[in-house]
Amino acid sequence: MLWTGGWDSTFHVLKVVLKEGGRVEPVYVIDEERRSTAHEELAMAAIRDGLAAHGAGAAARLLPTRVIRRASIEVSPRIARLYEAGVDRFSIGSQYEWLAALSEQDGMSGLEVSWEKPNKTATEFYRTFLPLLVSSADGRVLGHDLGGHDAFELFRNFRFPNLDYTKWEMWDCAEQHGFLPLMQLTWFCHRPRSGRPCGRCTPCHYTVIGGLARRLPLRARWRWLSRHVRRWIRDPDGGFW
Ligand SMILES: [Zn+2]
Repeated sequence: MLWTGGWDSTFHVLKVVLKEGGRVEPVYVIDEERRSTAHEELAMAAIRDGLAAHGAGAAARLLPTRVIRRASIEVSPRIARLYEAGVDRFSIGSQYEWLAALSEQDGMSGLEVSWEKPNKTATEFYRTFLPLLVSSADGRVLGHDLGGHDAFELFRNFRFPNLDYTKWEMWDCAEQHGFLPLMQLTWFCHRPRSGRPCGRCTPCHYTVIGGLARRLPLRARWRWLSRHVRRWIRDPDGGFW
Protein backbone atom coordinates (compact mmCIF):
# COMPACT_ATOMS: atom_id res chain seq x y z
CA MET A 1 0.00 0.00 0.00
CA LEU A 2 1.44 3.31 -1.11
CA TRP A 3 1.30 5.79 1.76
CA THR A 4 2.25 9.43 1.32
CA GLY A 5 0.82 10.93 4.50
CA GLY A 6 -1.86 12.57 2.30
CA TRP A 7 -5.61 12.51 2.83
CA ASP A 8 -6.58 9.70 0.45
CA SER A 9 -3.81 7.24 1.25
CA THR A 10 -4.02 7.89 5.00
CA PHE A 11 -7.75 7.26 4.84
CA HIS A 12 -7.17 3.88 3.27
CA VAL A 13 -4.46 2.95 5.79
CA LEU A 14 -6.64 3.91 8.77
CA LYS A 15 -9.81 2.37 7.35
CA VAL A 16 -8.07 -0.99 6.97
CA VAL A 17 -6.35 -0.81 10.37
CA LEU A 18 -9.14 0.70 12.48
CA LYS A 19 -12.42 -0.13 10.73
CA GLU A 20 -11.59 -3.50 9.19
CA GLY A 21 -9.01 -4.69 11.72
CA GLY A 22 -6.61 -5.57 8.92
CA ARG A 23 -2.85 -5.12 8.57
CA VAL A 24 -1.13 -2.67 6.25
CA GLU A 25 2.44 -2.61 5.07
CA PRO A 26 2.96 0.91 3.79
CA VAL A 27 5.42 1.82 1.06
CA TYR A 28 6.73 5.38 0.95
CA VAL A 29 8.80 6.72 -1.91
CA ILE A 30 11.13 9.52 -0.87
CA ASP A 31 11.41 12.08 -3.60
CA GLU A 32 14.36 14.28 -2.69
CA GLU A 33 13.30 16.89 -5.21
CA ARG A 34 9.91 17.53 -3.68
CA ARG A 35 9.68 20.32 -1.16
CA SER A 36 6.97 18.55 0.80
CA THR A 37 9.01 15.46 1.76
CA ALA A 38 9.76 16.58 5.32
CA HIS A 39 6.10 17.51 5.87
CA GLU A 40 4.98 14.11 4.62
CA GLU A 41 7.39 12.26 6.90
CA LEU A 42 6.32 14.32 9.91
CA ALA A 43 2.65 13.72 9.13
CA MET A 44 3.16 9.95 8.91
CA ALA A 45 5.11 9.89 12.16
CA ALA A 46 2.40 11.91 13.92
CA ILE A 47 -0.31 9.61 12.57
CA ARG A 48 1.61 6.55 13.80
CA ASP A 49 1.98 8.16 17.23
CA GLY A 50 -1.73 9.00 17.30
CA LEU A 51 -2.64 5.46 16.34
CA ALA A 52 -1.19 4.23 19.62
CA ALA A 53 -4.18 5.83 21.38
CA HIS A 54 -6.40 3.33 19.53
CA GLY A 55 -4.67 0.43 21.27
CA ALA A 56 -1.45 -1.53 20.90
CA GLY A 57 -3.19 -3.95 18.51
CA ALA A 58 -4.08 -1.17 16.08
CA ALA A 59 -0.60 0.31 16.23
CA ALA A 60 0.92 -3.12 15.53
CA ARG A 61 -1.33 -3.67 12.51
CA LEU A 62 0.35 -0.72 10.82
CA LEU A 63 3.60 -2.46 9.92
CA PRO A 64 6.88 -0.59 9.52
CA THR A 65 7.01 1.51 6.37
CA ARG A 66 9.14 0.29 3.49
CA VAL A 67 11.02 3.40 2.42
CA ILE A 68 12.31 3.56 -1.14
CA ARG A 69 14.36 6.35 -2.66
CA ARG A 70 12.88 7.57 -5.89
CA ALA A 71 16.36 7.91 -7.39
CA SER A 72 16.89 4.16 -6.84
CA ILE A 73 13.93 3.19 -9.05
CA GLU A 74 15.07 2.23 -12.53
CA VAL A 75 12.64 2.97 -15.32
CA SER A 76 12.85 0.43 -18.14
CA PRO A 77 12.70 1.60 -21.78
CA ARG A 78 9.33 -0.15 -22.09
CA ILE A 79 7.82 1.81 -19.21
CA ALA A 80 9.38 5.05 -20.45
CA ARG A 81 7.70 4.44 -23.83
CA LEU A 82 4.32 3.72 -22.26
CA TYR A 83 4.63 6.81 -20.10
CA GLU A 84 5.48 9.04 -23.09
CA ALA A 85 2.34 7.79 -24.83
CA GLY A 86 0.30 8.41 -21.66
CA VAL A 87 1.58 11.96 -21.28
CA ASP A 88 0.90 12.80 -24.92
CA ARG A 89 -2.66 11.58 -24.75
CA PHE A 90 -3.78 12.19 -21.16
CA SER A 91 -1.13 14.30 -19.35
CA ILE A 92 -0.58 11.47 -16.87
CA GLY A 93 1.40 12.67 -13.82
CA SER A 94 5.15 11.98 -13.88
CA GLN A 95 4.97 9.93 -10.67
CA TYR A 96 3.18 7.16 -12.54
CA GLU A 97 6.28 6.47 -14.60
CA TRP A 98 8.36 5.54 -11.56
CA LEU A 99 5.43 4.00 -9.69
CA ALA A 100 4.90 1.67 -12.66
CA ALA A 101 8.60 0.79 -12.53
CA LEU A 102 8.34 0.23 -8.77
CA SER A 103 5.30 -2.02 -9.22
CA GLU A 104 7.42 -4.35 -11.36
CA GLN A 105 10.02 -4.82 -8.63
CA ASP A 106 10.11 -7.84 -6.36
CA GLY A 107 7.24 -8.02 -3.91
CA MET A 108 5.58 -4.86 -5.22
CA SER A 109 3.02 -6.32 -7.56
CA GLY A 110 -0.44 -5.38 -6.33
CA LEU A 111 0.73 -1.96 -5.18
CA GLU A 112 -2.35 -0.21 -3.84
CA VAL A 113 -2.96 3.37 -4.88
CA SER A 114 -5.70 5.31 -3.14
CA TRP A 115 -7.43 7.18 -5.97
CA GLU A 116 -10.71 8.69 -4.83
CA LYS A 117 -14.17 8.28 -6.33
CA PRO A 118 -14.52 10.43 -9.45
CA ASN A 119 -16.64 13.57 -9.16
CA LYS A 120 -18.01 15.98 -11.73
CA THR A 121 -14.57 17.43 -12.33
CA ALA A 122 -12.98 14.05 -13.17
CA THR A 123 -10.30 14.35 -15.83
CA GLU A 124 -10.61 12.74 -19.25
CA PHE A 125 -7.99 10.24 -18.14
CA TYR A 126 -10.10 9.23 -15.16
CA ARG A 127 -13.26 8.96 -17.25
CA THR A 128 -11.50 6.80 -19.84
CA PHE A 129 -9.50 4.63 -17.48
CA LEU A 130 -11.91 3.78 -14.66
CA PRO A 131 -14.49 1.90 -16.77
CA LEU A 132 -11.68 -0.49 -17.77
CA LEU A 133 -11.21 -1.71 -14.20
CA VAL A 134 -12.61 -5.09 -13.23
CA SER A 135 -13.25 -6.65 -9.84
CA SER A 136 -10.94 -9.41 -8.73
CA ALA A 137 -10.28 -11.27 -5.51
CA ASP A 138 -7.67 -8.59 -4.78
CA GLY A 139 -9.97 -5.66 -5.42
CA ARG A 140 -10.26 -3.57 -8.55
CA VAL A 141 -7.56 -4.08 -11.16
CA LEU A 142 -7.06 -3.22 -14.81
CA GLY A 143 -8.86 -5.70 -17.11
CA HIS A 144 -7.67 -7.01 -20.46
CA ASP A 145 -9.50 -4.40 -22.51
CA LEU A 146 -7.35 -1.28 -22.60
CA GLY A 147 -9.82 0.69 -24.72
CA GLY A 148 -7.09 1.07 -27.36
CA HIS A 149 -4.72 2.88 -24.97
CA ASP A 150 -1.55 0.81 -24.53
CA ALA A 151 -0.26 3.44 -22.07
CA PHE A 152 -2.70 2.06 -19.49
CA GLU A 153 -0.36 -0.94 -19.17
CA LEU A 154 1.51 1.38 -16.78
CA PHE A 155 -1.18 0.58 -14.23
CA ARG A 156 -1.16 -3.19 -14.77
CA ASN A 157 0.19 -4.06 -11.31
CA PHE A 158 -1.84 -1.52 -9.37
CA ARG A 159 -4.93 -2.04 -7.23
CA PHE A 160 -7.49 0.66 -6.57
CA PRO A 161 -9.18 0.04 -3.22
CA ASN A 162 -10.44 3.57 -2.51
CA LEU A 163 -12.70 4.35 -5.47
CA ASP A 164 -15.92 4.13 -3.45
CA TYR A 165 -15.15 7.28 -1.47
CA THR A 166 -15.01 10.96 -2.31
CA LYS A 167 -12.91 13.12 0.00
CA TRP A 168 -16.13 14.11 1.76
CA GLU A 169 -17.23 10.53 2.22
CA MET A 170 -13.79 9.78 3.67
CA TRP A 171 -14.36 12.60 6.15
CA ASP A 172 -17.75 11.10 7.14
CA CYS A 173 -16.39 7.58 7.48
CA ALA A 174 -13.39 8.75 9.52
CA GLU A 175 -15.70 10.74 11.82
CA GLN A 176 -18.02 7.76 12.26
CA HIS A 177 -15.17 5.44 13.16
CA GLY A 178 -13.33 7.85 15.40
CA PHE A 179 -10.24 8.55 13.35
CA LEU A 180 -10.99 12.01 11.99
CA PRO A 181 -8.43 13.59 14.37
CA LEU A 182 -5.74 11.41 12.76
CA MET A 183 -6.95 12.45 9.30
CA GLN A 184 -6.44 16.07 10.34
CA LEU A 185 -2.72 15.32 10.68
CA THR A 186 -2.37 14.45 6.99
CA TRP A 187 -0.28 16.54 4.63
CA PHE A 188 -1.25 17.17 1.02
CA CYS A 189 0.54 20.21 -0.49
CA HIS A 190 3.52 19.64 -2.81
CA ARG A 191 4.80 23.23 -2.70
CA PRO A 192 4.29 24.55 0.84
CA ARG A 193 4.83 28.26 1.50
CA SER A 194 6.15 29.15 4.92
CA GLY A 195 5.32 25.61 5.99
CA ARG A 196 1.65 25.83 5.02
CA PRO A 197 -0.41 24.58 2.04
CA CYS A 198 0.04 26.78 -1.05
CA GLY A 199 -3.36 26.68 -2.77
CA ARG A 200 -1.72 26.40 -6.19
CA CYS A 201 -0.36 22.88 -6.59
CA THR A 202 -2.34 19.91 -7.89
CA PRO A 203 -3.03 18.27 -4.49
CA CYS A 204 -4.18 21.64 -3.07
CA HIS A 205 -6.50 22.02 -6.08
CA TYR A 206 -8.03 18.58 -5.56
CA THR A 207 -8.43 19.29 -1.85
CA VAL A 208 -10.52 22.36 -2.69
CA ILE A 209 -12.66 20.79 -5.40
CA GLY A 210 -13.08 17.69 -3.24
CA GLY A 211 -14.93 19.93 -0.77
CA LEU A 212 -12.19 20.27 1.85
CA ALA A 213 -11.10 23.86 1.23
CA ARG A 214 -11.29 24.33 5.00
CA ARG A 215 -7.99 22.43 5.22
CA LEU A 216 -6.17 25.30 3.47
CA PRO A 217 -5.21 28.52 5.25
CA LEU A 218 -7.31 31.53 4.20
CA ARG A 219 -4.51 33.01 2.14
CA ALA A 220 -4.14 29.79 0.12
CA ARG A 221 -7.90 29.61 -0.44
CA TRP A 222 -7.79 33.16 -1.77
CA ARG A 223 -4.90 32.24 -4.08
CA TRP A 224 -6.89 29.31 -5.43
CA LEU A 225 -10.03 31.40 -5.94
CA SER A 226 -8.37 34.38 -7.62
CA ARG A 227 -6.51 32.09 -9.99
CA HIS A 228 -9.70 30.33 -11.03
CA VAL A 229 -11.63 33.58 -11.40
CA ARG A 230 -8.86 34.95 -13.67
CA ARG A 231 -8.90 31.77 -15.73
CA TRP A 232 -12.68 31.82 -15.97
CA ILE A 233 -12.73 35.47 -17.08
CA ARG A 234 -10.18 34.65 -19.79
CA ASP A 235 -12.04 31.58 -20.97
CA PRO A 236 -15.64 31.28 -19.66
CA ASP A 237 -16.32 28.28 -21.91
CA GLY A 238 -13.51 26.36 -20.23
CA GLY A 239 -15.61 26.14 -17.05
CA PHE A 240 -14.69 27.40 -13.63
CA TRP A 241 -12.80 24.36 -12.34
ZN1 LIG B 1 -0.13 23.18 -2.48
